[in-house]
Amino acid sequence: MLPVIALVGRPNVGKSTLFNYLTRTREALVADYPGLTRDRQYGRIKHGDMACLVVDTGGIADDAEGIDSFSRKQVQVALEEADVVFFLVDAREGLSASDEVIAGSLRKLGKPVVLVVNKIDGIDANTVAADFHALALGDPVYIAAAHGRGVPDLLGGIRHLLPKVELEAEAAPKGISIAVVGRPNVGKSTLVNRLLGEERVVVFDEPGTTRDSIYIPFERGGKTFTLIDTAGMRRRAKIAETVEKFSVIKSLQAIEKSNVVIYLIDASEGVTDQDAHLLGLVLETGRALIIGLNKWDGLSIEQKETVRRQLDLKLPFVDFAEKHPISALHGSGVGKLFDVVQSLYDAAMLDMSTPLLTRILKEATDTHQPPMVNNRRIKLKYAHQGGRNPPIVVIHGVQTDALPNSYKRFLMNYFRDRLQLRGTPIKLEFKSPA
Ligand code: GDP
Ligand code: GDP
Repeated sequence: MLPVIALVGRPNVGKSTLFNYLTRTREALVADYPGLTRDRQYGRIKHGDMACLVVDTGGIADDAEGIDSFSRKQVQVALEEADVVFFLVDAREGLSASDEVIAGSLRKLGKPVVLVVNKIDGIDANTVAADFHALALGDPVYIAAAHGRGVPDLLGGIRHLLPKVELEAEAAPKGISIAVVGRPNVGKSTLVNRLLGEERVVVFDEPGTTRDSIYIPFERGGKTFTLIDTAGMRRRAKIAETVEKFSVIKSLQAIEKSNVVIYLIDASEGVTDQDAHLLGLVLETGRALIIGLNKWDGLSIEQKETVRRQLDLKLPFVDFAEKHPISALHGSGVGKLFDVVQSLYDAAMLDMSTPLLTRILKEATDTHQPPMVNNRRIKLKYAHQGGRNPPIVVIHGVQTDALPNSYKRFLMNYFRDRLQLRGTPIKLEFKSPA
């Protein structure tokens, strides 16, 4: 389970600047896909051997207007699920009344809070220190998020506060693991029950529980799968209310743990902005993806056409995903999902030899030459495999830094077609001699 850091503070103290700095490595990947805007709220951090999720809680001190209730709820959930809170204040403005209000509520939270004094560039820390010490939240850490100054120390200083993650080794789920995710009420619980209720499924005795999701190992057709059920806690707790404790963080952690994601859309409602948001986050993890168009039963022909159009318009960045109309309630289309999961898993785990990848690269560049930069043509020489789930193709060449996104996309599609990769994104990495 990835530890979670929540960024808290009044508006304009620099939360999103710090968020961007911490998560900046993602930009390249996101830029490669048309239609995808960065999620400015949830991101992943890698710092040495430390990996975590970071959540920008945005306008925690704003009066609630302007934030929709979903976002407001998610701020609460983020604070509940955070392992560490970074409380940002502004060195230039000094201590404000809202800082004191926020500090008061953070003290009640009972979580480790790091007081982060931002915008220290051009300011002598000694002149502001006394002010912020008055918050009684311990020694502040001084940073300039805009330049990244002090950020490594900030991260280094919280190592001991985070639960240890053994990234790979941690109780690896059995067999192919499948995360069922989606907004509240799209039918996740219904689908999980339906999948496990299939007659050829043998569920192993004890599902493992984590803080957030239930891991259910089972066997079907001689193969082992593990379902990661993000809606499961609610079912266990028998909470009847419809406003469940939906959590983006919980969903992200389940996605991280999975090989294949089944993302459910409520087809009777169509594709929503939240779906686009969550799917953007799925894309960043590189997991193989099935989009289940649930509640297909009872849709009119026009509704079905509308949903299909929305998929193209709103979700072009997951055009690689397998799309399946299903009815979790009645079972239609559900049995077939096992075979789809299996073939997506096979694609995501494909072994690709260096000669094969290099041959495909040559074909691609023969078909469509890379562009010229400074009167010299960008050269792409050979390719080899760099990883699985998602398949990573490492391409060596000259001036690869100058490759435009449009050409990267062309290559991505070319490799995907030639390798017949089904339902998985492919990641390209470029290497040029320095
Ligand atoms: P948020 O509302 O808390 O997310 O704040 P933003 O990240 O949007 O930052 C608010 C303003 O502070 C922006 O104009 C930033 O450029 C500026 N800012 C953020 N970090 C720094 C910093 O380290 N030094 C200086 N001088 N300005 C900063
Ligand atoms: P979750 O919050 O995503 O776990 O959603 P639930 O599984 O609790 O389902 C929410 C509601 O949608 C329930 O009333 C279900 O009976 C209903 N539902 C789920 N799947 C389908 C389906 O395929 N068709 C129809 N018509 N309703 C469904």
